[in-house]
Parts: sequence; structure tokens; C-alpha cells
Amino acid sequence: MEEKKEYYADVIVDISHEKLDRPFQYRVPDRLRDRLETGACVTVPFGNGNKLLKAYVVGIGQVCKYDPAKMKEIRGIVQGGTGAEDKMIALAAWIRKNYGSTMIQALKVVLPARRSVKRLEHRTLQRALGREEIVSLLGESRRKKQVAKERLLRELVEQESIPYEWVTGKLGVSAQTVKSLERAGAVRVISTETFRNPVSLAATREQKKLLSDAQRRIVEEVMGDFESGRPDTYLLHGITGSGKTEVYMQLVSEMVERGRQAIVLIPEIALTYQTLLRFYNRFGDRVSILNSNLSPGEKYDQCERARNGEIDVIIGPRSALFVPFRNIGLIIMDEEHEGSYKSEASPKYHARETAIQVARLHGASVLLGSATPSLESYYRAETGEYKLFTLKERLTGGQLPKVHTIDLRRELKEGNRSIFSRKLQELLADRLSKQEQSILFLNRRGYAGFVSCRSCGHVMKCPHCDVSLSEHSGGRGGQGTLMCHYCGYQEPKPKVCPKCGSPYISGFKAGTQQIEEKLKEMFPGVRTLRMDGDTTRTKDSYERILSAFMGGEADVLIGTQMIVKGHDFPRVTLVGVLAADLSLSVGDYRAGEKTFQLLTQAVGRAGRGELAGEAVIQTYQPDHYAVIHAAAQNYGGFYKEEIIYREMMGYPPAAHMLAVQIFARVQDRGQALADSLASVTRRNFANLSGPDAGGSPSGACGERQGLQIVGPAPASIGRINDIFRFVFYVKCAKYDKLVQIKDLLEEEMQKRQSADELVQFDFNPMNTM
Ligand code: ADP
Ligand code: ZN
Ligand code: ZN
Repeated sequence: MEEKKEYYADVIVDISHEKLDRPFQYRVPDRLRDRLETGACVTVPFGNGNKLLKAYVVGIGQVCKYDPAKMKEIRGIVQGGTGAEDKMIALAAWIRKNYGSTMIQALKVVLPARRSVKRLEHRTLQRALGREEIVSLLGESRRKKQVAKERLLRELVEQESIPYEWVTGKLGVSAQTVKSLERAGAVRVISTETFRNPVSLAATREQKKLLSDAQRRIVEEVMGDFESGRPDTYLLHGITGSGKTEVYMQLVSEMVERGRQAIVLIPEIALTYQTLLRFYNRFGDRVSILNSNLSPGEKYDQCERARNGEIDVIIGPRSALFVPFRNIGLIIMDEEHEGSYKSEASPKYHARETAIQVARLHGASVLLGSATPSLESYYRAETGEYKLFTLKERLTGGQLPKVHTIDLRRELKEGNRSIFSRKLQELLADRLSKQEQSILFLNRRGYAGFVSCRSCGHVMKCPHCDVSLSEHSGGRGGQGTLMCHYCGYQEPKPKVCPKCGSPYISGFKAGTQQIEEKLKEMFPGVRTLRMDGDTTRTKDSYERILSAFMGGEADVLIGTQMIVKGHDFPRVTLVGVLAADLSLSVGDYRAGEKTFQLLTQAVGRAGRGELAGEAVIQTYQPDHYAVIHAAAQNYGGFYKEEIIYREMMGYPPAAHMLAVQIFARVQDRGQALADSLASVTRRNFANLSGPDAGGSPSGACGERQGLQIVGPAPASIGRINDIFRFVFYVKCAKYDKLVQIKDLLEEEMQKRQSADELVQFDFNPMNTM
């Protein structure tokens, strides 16, 4: 007789973050076995009195952790919950299923950590003197070189009042400095109790704009769909300054009028004071912000305010999606192409898809906005999954900058070995003489040691994956090895360029510091500011540098990608991109897309104000379509070429791709586990692909319809903190199939129960691991 298998479920009886680590185990009665799922809401007898309580299932298994004789049974499944808690559980279950993690991990993402909650005190700083007196104090602190004080005063010239957290946070001004100004009678600190609305003073009051026809049509269509019970997902493609934020605010206000709440996602790096002020001024104390400057207690407090209906609008990075509003009407995702919308920790959820899921649970609309939409979103707009809106004109005037693309191969050929092309030198000299500002942008994003020819621009690529190979030291004779991080292909680093025979082949090694030194050699006395990973270690130094540059403390700002996002610099009339190729040639299928976005943003930094701007793009690959279309600020042209590449290679969004990431203490065991999981996947390939996969009947494009496994290979950083890292990729046209593979591999790992190896999943990864 077959032994009867018992099932046991871990449940939590109260959903709050700190109860998550103490689930209780219950027996699953036979009658419920087939229906019970992780995430289900159940009733259980609890405590000595066996009082019936509502509980949520966070895991189901066959291992009994307590005395089976004493274990109680789940009583029943609660049907169709619609409360706020049930929505959170449903969302966590969805995240768990679609991105891979435990239910506990997923719940930790959606539930805020409760800390000893001290009621948040809202404070604002107000100027206590007239504008002119502030201006004269500003002059004084400038002479005395009191830079922090100067920054604060400069802000106070523009604004009559500033939220206190901005003063100490984003502006990086110490409490001491504030005190000294307070003692001098220049400012007042006011707390919420006396003045609830932090910034609604006349100085900056945001007038509700009369929308242009194009803007109005967008608002009408979104609201029309919403009103008729068909809320949808929309992509708003519009260059910076085309009026997207104005559309967002109008839609938010329509929703608020209807008693619904709105979430406005903005990547933290792009969330500028100006943008925040616009929302504050329009929605007063019904709007709040969530950012990393807030302590966990403060974050929790924001969530409580949302739960209690004290606010209607929350602005913040991806975690703002989980603010427990009761009845969301709209989720806006600005700069929707930004990589920071994807979580780097497991579960590696993408805020875009998650936002759509949250919207589904609430019957809400989703509006994605960008000047350079992600390939994913534009593809879905083209296929009709999202509705597409376009805003074409800059409303503030300001012309698109004139762009010069400089071929670095030619510079070398004509004898210029400097890192600055002759054109860039000439324009820099011109700007310095006119006392206009310039930005030098070093495109190091995801820089992973690719190798190219300085004479002809040829980049060493993987013959199988069409991505750049990365250089690794070692190899025979210390010559170095080139490796593909998708499939593991290797070859020795060649001594001469395989295309033109030139011996000048190498990676590009200059950093921002070197550029600064070279610039000072060339233009003695030039005032520079530098912004990169080194100079922005602390959270606030980023804002501090930007604000110093904005205030004219330097002629040239040198930096990596962080300088091209968010901020507007009205006095910048020249942008130099030193080596556009750096991001073009990382071993990553998104390299072209990231390059196009960065170059477009960088070029767009020039000439935002009254003055016309120019940009110089230095590159070894002037003919690359990402460079050509970015120079012309032509999104459509770029998209058309990029999507062909994605389709040909079966990369997202043309197909889906799952990265299976293996972490191990012992190298050989990591490799063995990676090999074994890949072959488990391969072995089950036949089952999973089912009758509808395997390509068209003729079998012509079979691979893309079915499953394709690439790797395993060591990760691009093969070892971190003595943990070895391996990865393989599974490509498939159907997302569901990849979810099935994830489930299969999760089961497999559960069977192994190894503490020394760990597997994580990354669906449609933003970066190679
Ligand atoms: P984006 O978000 O696309 O960068 P914004 O919404 O910030 O664009 O608009 C750019 C500028 O144009 C802002 O200064 C804004 O106040 C102004 N603006 C936007 N819409 C209108 C309008 N309908 N009428 C007048 N000014 C507008
Ligand atoms: Zn060459
Ligand atoms: Zn490869």
C-alpha cells in the first residue's frame, strides 16, 4: 500500500514585517490539498483557546517541523479577499511567482519594516529676512568661502521656505550651520504642528497651466478609458521639456478629484528639488515623498499616513509602489527606461511590470514616460499592448544643440594623441573665454574591460552572442584572455588587430581624475568639479557637487553617467562626450540601448537656457547607429535598428531571457552545480516546450520559439568576497515557460538542501552578472 503523503503549510497570522520570520506550521487537510497555494488566505485555530484567526500561507512542504501529534489543521480557505492586506499578499505572491524567491522575501519587499514609530515631525526652514538681505548675506558667505552656508542662502534667494530634510539631506547643510543662521535671525525653523503645508508660498506657487491641445488629448484619453472602466497602460514619449510632468500633474489631480490615489515613480537620481516643488505646490500637504534619506521609521510613517488616507500622492523610487493606498487610480513612472527600476536584490522585480500588476489589483491606469523609452516599452506600444502618446515640441523654447561627431581614429592618424579632440579643445577654449560652463562626460557605464583597436575601431566580439568580449588578465604567457560572459567562449587576446593589423589594441583606461589633470595642463587656472563614484561616496555629496556647479563654482564639470541625469544647468553651453564607445562595447545585449540613452541625455544637457548649445561626441565608432541617432536625437531611427538586432539574436523584448545565477563557496562545486542545473533544464526541455513550442511546422525559426540555453559560464566578476559566481541564460519567446523553468530549478535546489550554494533568478536582466 502506498504511503500517504502529508503536506504542511507555514502560515503567518498577522501580516507585519517583523512577524515574517516566525511562521507557524499547520497540517494541510486532504480536502484542501489541491486548492491550497502559497499566498492563500486561510483560517486557522490559534493559541490555547483555538480562536479562529485569518492567516496567510507563505510556504507548503512535506517536512514536519514539530510534533505531528500536536499539529493543528488549517480550517478553510477564505475566498475572494479584497482588503488592503489581501492585495499586498496577492502582490507578494505574484512577485514570488514571476521573479523567483521565497514568499517571505517577497513579503519583505511589499511590507514596510515597522520601527519604533515616532510621529514624524515635519519641519521647514523659512527665511526670516527679506530677499535683498539674504542676497547680501550670500555675498558675504561667498567671500568667506563658507560653501555650505552659501548653498543654503542661494536656495533661500529663490525659495521662501524649504523642507528641512532637503536642507540637511540634499543640500548637505549641517544642523550647526542652520543654527548659526537662525541665531543671526536670517531663518526660522517651523515644525508641522504650526504649519502643515511645507512649501506653498507665493514665491514659487505653481500656476496650473492651460494644457496644450496635445497634452489635453492625452489627459482626455486616459481619463476616458478610466471612466469607462477600461484603465490601461500608456507610454508617453516626449523629449525633456515637452510638458510630460504637466500631464502627470493634471492626471493626478483628476484622480484625486475622484477620490483615488496616485503613485509617481521617479528614479531617485532624477528626483530634483524643482520637480518635487512643483508637486508640493500643486497638491500641498496631500503629497509626500519617499526617498533613501528617510529613516525606516520615517518611511513607515509615510506608509501609515497613506493607509490612514492623510495623503493622496506619493513620489518616490521603485519602493513607493508598495505604499499601502486603499484605492489607487493612477501609477506614473517617469524616466521609465531607467535601470534603477529593476531590483538588484532577490526577488529581482521590475517596477514597470509590478506597477502594472498593482494597477490591475486596484483597477488603476499606468502611465510610463520617457524621452528615450526602453526597447521593452516601445516594442509593447508598437504591438498594441500599451497605448502610445507622443509629445514632440519643447515648450520652453531652447533649441536642440548642434552636435559634432568626432572620429577618434582620424585624430590619431592625424597626430593628435590627446584625449581631447581638436574640436573639443577649440570649443572648450571658447567657452572659458566667454565664461560659459561646460560638462565633460566619461561614459563608463558597465565598463567591463572590452578590447578595441585604436587605429580602426574594431571591437573583439563573441562569435556566438554578438556582444563584446571582456579582457581577463592571466592566460598563457601573461598575454591575457578574452571572454564572453553569456556563453563562456574564450580566446587569447590577439597581439595585433585581426582586421587592420595595427598593434594599438587595448582597453580605454582613462578615468575622470586623469581627465581633470589633463584639462588643467591644457587650460591652467580652469576651475573644475569632479563627480564619480569616488567623489560621491556619501549620499549628499552628489547634490552638493551639482548645486556648487549650478551656483557657478566651477567652469567645467567632469563626471560619469550620474551627471547626465535629472538636473538642468541653464549656463552649460558645451557638452563633451569623451569616449562614446565605452558603453557601446560592454559585453551586454543592452549596450546599444544604454549608449543611445546616455548620449541623448548628455547631448540634451547643452543649451537648456537662453544660450544655444553645442555637443562633441568623440568615438571610435562614428558609424554605429546608436551614435548616429543619438547625435541626431532621433529615437525612432535608433529603435528601428536596435529591434532588428534583438529579434535576430532572440534578446528581449523580442523574446524573454532568464539568467540563472549560481553562487558557491567552492569553485568546482559551483561549476558542477551550474552544469547540472543547465542539464536539468535541457532534459526537461521536451516537456516544457510542449506541443505549441518548437517553432513553426517547417521548423524554420524553431530555436526562438522553443528554448535556448546559453552557458553556463563564470560571471563577469567571477568571485566576490570569496563566493564564486556562475551564470547561464535561458531564452524563450514565452515568459510562462521561463517561470516553469524557475519553478523546476527551485524544486531541484530544495531537494539538494545545500547551505554552501545559492541560486538566484533574474528575468530579462538589465546587466550581465
Ligand atoms: P517634461 O516633464 O517633459 O520635461 P515639463 O512638464 O516639465 O516637461 O514642461 C517643461 C516646461 O514647460 C515647464 O517649465 C512647464 O512649466 C512648461 N509647461 C508645460 N506645459 C505647459 C503648458 N501647457 N503651458 C505653458 N507652459 C507649460
Ligand atoms: Zn584595427
Ligand atoms: Zn558568447
